[in-house]
Amino acid sequence: MEKHLVLVGGGHAHMVTLANLHDFIEKGHKVTVIGPSAYHYYSGMGPGMLGKMYAPEDIRFATQYVVEKQGGAFNLGKVVRVDPEGKTVILESGETVSYDVISFNTGSYVPRSIVKDGEKDIFSVKPIEKLMDAQTRILELISQKKITVSIIGGGPSAAEIAGNVWRLTRNYGPNRPKIQIFAGKKFMSHIPDTMRTKVSISLQKRGIKILEKDYVKDIKTGQITLESEQRYDTDFIFLALGVKPSPIFEESDLPTGPDGGLLVNKYLQCSAYPEIFGGGDCIYFKDRPLDKVGVYAVRQNPVLFQNLMASLEETVLQPFDPGGDYLLIFNMGDNTGILRKKRLLFGGKLAFLIKDYIDRKFIRKFQAIEQT
Ligand SMILES: Cc1cc2nc3c(=O)[nH]c(=O)nc-3n(C[C@H](O)[C@H](O)[C@H](O)COP(=O)(O)OP(=O)(O)OC[C@H]3O[C@@H](n4cnc5c(N)ncnc54)[C@H](O)[C@@H]3O)c2cc1C
Repeated sequence: MEKHLVLVGGGHAHMVTLANLHDFIEKGHKVTVIGPSAYHYYSGMGPGMLGKMYAPEDIRFATQYVVEKQGGAFNLGKVVRVDPEGKTVILESGETVSYDVISFNTGSYVPRSIVKDGEKDIFSVKPIEKLMDAQTRILELISQKKITVSIIGGGPSAAEIAGNVWRLTRNYGPNRPKIQIFAGKKFMSHIPDTMRTKVSISLQKRGIKILEKDYVKDIKTGQITLESEQRYDTDFIFLALGVKPSPIFEESDLPTGPDGGLLVNKYLQCSAYPEIFGGGDCIYFKDRPLDKVGVYAVRQNPVLFQNLMASLEETVLQPFDPGGDYLLIFNMGDNTGILRKKRLLFGGKLAFLIKDYIDRKFIRKFQAIEQT
């Protein structure tokens, strides 16, 4: 009997399912993918795109094209709510789509609650495609005057963004911007000291300032205010604060973890509604909370693909094993990287080349589906 599989978001955890969509269709099922963009941008290469190391087309996957080519339907839109009893999702446009089995890979967002008023020249580091608009605007501003670019947040994405703003603007002579990171009380507080020191040195030797005085209280266009009421003028702001899972699940009263992510069991399945699955930053994995890194989304791919098929075909589900420690490499924007895996830690050109090789291999594997 034909069933309807709906995929919400074509993120990193759905890549294998998207690549094998034809398998569902050949078995007689209908597949609909819902997403706000015809493309999915690979976040690992986002900062490099900002720094013009990569072109937008190097880092994206043509979701809509690949879905339609395999006989699926692509619905350009954003899901805002789920009615799990009625097995229906509601889109921002008001349209509803019903499902038999559904999987969410809607990622995370950067909260903008500290933005007091005005949106002009305040950009978030997600969604990745918006980094292209940020790039255009920074270049426009520095063609007119010397500016200050401020990055709010003290984690890896703040470091990579700062390093790549430096790269983007390094040839602008006297108009090279002042770049500063507002890192709260401690820069990279969740990262081991040895790695944090290497990242700080890499940025500071290029003149990038790291402020660890206080947390930012609020921002508006052109101004940053700290908790201490100290004010800083700025021309451009990046918000690189900690991400939060997509708000769909809290809005829908579905079971969530403490961070608001869809609560899933070891099968990446919502226990209360077994026809609902999810992966990537938007879930809270009940057995062991996972860091919000693409590595886990990528590792979840084959399990999600297997389990969506098993759920439609009523066969056995496979458990997800998050695995051990993962490789972490930061793109510092000056053709160097900083690499850490367990006790191994080193920085320099080789670290960047390893990241570049892994990232390009990952995205090319999925881009190849566009050609077949
Ligand atoms: C600047 C930056 C650099 C990073 N670098 C790395 C790195 O090098 N390595 C690493 O492991 N992690 C990195 N991360 C973390 C990484 O981005 C996330 O962990 C990863 O993107 C999670 O993948 P995802 O598929 O869950 O979400 P996403 O990649 O965000 O994908 C979500 C998808 O869902 C779609 N979507 C969103 N909302 C809706 C909706 N309501 N309805 C329908 N569709 C929707 C989006 O358009 C998007 O296509 C980085 C993060 C940032 C911000």
